[in-house]
Amino acid sequence: MRATVMYAAGDVRIEDVPDARIVKPTDAVVRVTRACICGSDLWPYKSKPAAEQGQRMGHEFIGVVEETGSEVSTVKKGDVVVAPFAFSDGSCEFCAEGLQTSCVNGGFWGTGDVDGGQGEAVRVPHADGTLFVLPVGEDDALMPSLLTLSDVYGTGHHAALGARVAPGRIVAVVGDGAVGLCGVLAAKRLGAEQIIILGRHQDRTDIAREFGATDVVAERGDEAADRVRELTGGHGAHSVLECVGLEESFLTAMRIARPGGAVGRVGVPQTPAIPGNRPAFSHNITIGGGVAPARAYIEELLPDILEGRVNPGRVFDSTVDLDGVPAGYRAMDDREAIKVLVRP
Ligand SMILES: [Zn+2]
Repeated sequence: MRATVMYAAGDVRIEDVPDARIVKPTDAVVRVTRACICGSDLWPYKSKPAAEQGQRMGHEFIGVVEETGSEVSTVKKGDVVVAPFAFSDGSCEFCAEGLQTSCVNGGFWGTGDVDGGQGEAVRVPHADGTLFVLPVGEDDALMPSLLTLSDVYGTGHHAALGARVAPGRIVAVVGDGAVGLCGVLAAKRLGAEQIIILGRHQDRTDIAREFGATDVVAERGDEAADRVRELTGGHGAHSVLECVGLEESFLTAMRIARPGGAVGRVGVPQTPAIPGNRPAFSHNITIGGGVAPARAYIEELLPDILEGRVNPGRVFDSTVDLDGVPAGYRAMDDREAIKVLVRP
């Protein structure tokens, strides 16, 4: 089968790899019908040292179950399923707590001998715990929005929970990528009264407004912090969603949080320490969030998509086939595309 392999920064190839097949009785094989490129795929795309052994890529996918191992009981051949960006057994104590990303038997796509999602098929470990059956056909018009359940919508929701978004709260979202935009949508869904998006690309902030943002702040650094304070009666936002992971964005998040407020961080950290330790201490700012247990949120977020109340699939502004994946990485890295959908 064919799949996406990254060898070095900027070097993404489509190659023949061994076919996905059942190895353990808890596995399923899923034929991928939709996948996508993630903002977090851009970190290795910018920085990965060259290696002879490439890295299989992709951690967001929807597909059709082709085959199941003898111990798989909750999915069957023909089911249309979404996979969260981490696999999990669904039965350990962390899975029971809704923290599937810390599953004692879990892991991430494209690591070890596990397939990546940007390919024709995937061997899914712990299929019962990992996969979620979708009540739609494989080419349903809702596919782009359903695909966001594998990562970006769940991650935006996690940021909102980490930032303690609740009815009536003032929210600020740092980052206008797909996760930031989904964070706006999640904050709106949780009842935020005012939602400020920090972003400077109008195509993105237009989607943020569609998703419920009430204000756009295009400034950065000190000026952004000043502008957010102006918009919030001088005190900052109760809830700040940090959806980037860079030092500057995290510092901005800390500085625009209202005293006693919370920052929900979901951007993959690109610094060894959490920036903004001093303002966090001075103003009693809670730092929540982390890697999102997307699997835990699928059931809760799905009905609004199925019933048309939200359309997180708006974050996809480009579609490619497998051969178009390397160009898709380039387009996202050049910020020509917000998020690229892949139809293998
Ligand atoms: Zn588990």
